[in-house]
Amino acid sequence: MSSTIPLITTSEFSCSACQKIFKKQSGLSRHLTIVKKYNIPRNNLDNLSETNNKNFKNILVYLIHCKLPNGFKKGGRQLVSLACTEHQFFDIFKGYIHHHSNKNIYKCIFRGTIGYQTLSEILNNPLWG
Ligand SMILES: [Zn+2]
Repeated sequence: MSSTIPLITTSEFSCSACQKIFKKQSGLSRHLTIVKKYNIPRNNLDNLSETNNKNFKNILVYLIHCKLPNGFKKGGRQLVSLACTEHQFFDIFKGYIHHHSNKNIYKCIFRGTIGYQTLSEILNNPLWG
């Protein structure tokens, strides 16, 4: 009588931000390490003035509103892109950058309710949607 022990298929590891799936824990760790590096400024950048950031945030809120006329209820993926200086982007989104291409394109990913709240905190605008 032989009993076969079922192979336990370990659940896959996925990144909570971008939903990328990794077969191993180490793969996910590596991914998160890389993401962490994106959020460290390469040069010693000074903080930008409050007014400068405020204006930039207002533009962003406006752009997001245009992209999402029905608020976030519609779901799906929305891409809001904006050309700005690296410095400016960093000052506002440091800690949330999730992708950096060699063409100097940064991506932040905000998902679901938590993403919504995070964004409103970053942009100091709780009233949208
Ligand atoms: Zn990810």
